[in-house]
Amino acid sequence: MGNPDLSPSSDAAAHAYVYRNMPDVGGVVHTHSTYATAWAARGEPIPCVLTMMGDEFGGTIPVGPFALIGDDSIGRGIVDTLRASHSPAVLMQNHGPFTIGKDARSAVKAAVMCEEVARTVHISRQLGEPLPIDAGQIESLYSRYQNVYGR
Ligand SMILES: [Zn+2]
Repeated sequence: MGNPDLSPSSDAAAHAYVYRNMPDVGGVVHTHSTYATAWAARGEPIPCVLTMMGDEFGGTIPVGPFALIGDDSIGRGIVDTLRASHSPAVLMQNHGPFTIGKDARSAVKAAVMCEEVARTVHISRQLGEPLPIDAGQIESLYSRYQNVYGR
């Protein structure tokens, strides 16, 4: 079988679980992109310190539980974490990002944005402590952006 993490069938089970349990979702994307996966390796949520994060993610990008491939636990971890958050992206601990969208295109966009903010916040951290954005400001960024562009 080789590395099970490279097998399309194991990915398909997690994706199918998300589609079954989140009927509004029309696209699921999973990557092992470097920066987002580096945050997942530490099990650390990406704090909302950029207005583009407020726009797209509505706050912190959360971390989902550690889960082994082979049953529904990855899919369940993705769904449970995303339901508790505005974010269309979740960093599955020790694994990597999964993103959702109303269609494949928006799920891909979320995956690209997730990697971009993971990289930028990482670099910001090298220079000092990024400034948090007030929760009320995040909420207005998010509602304005979602009203204009939809989710
Ligand atoms: Zn994977």
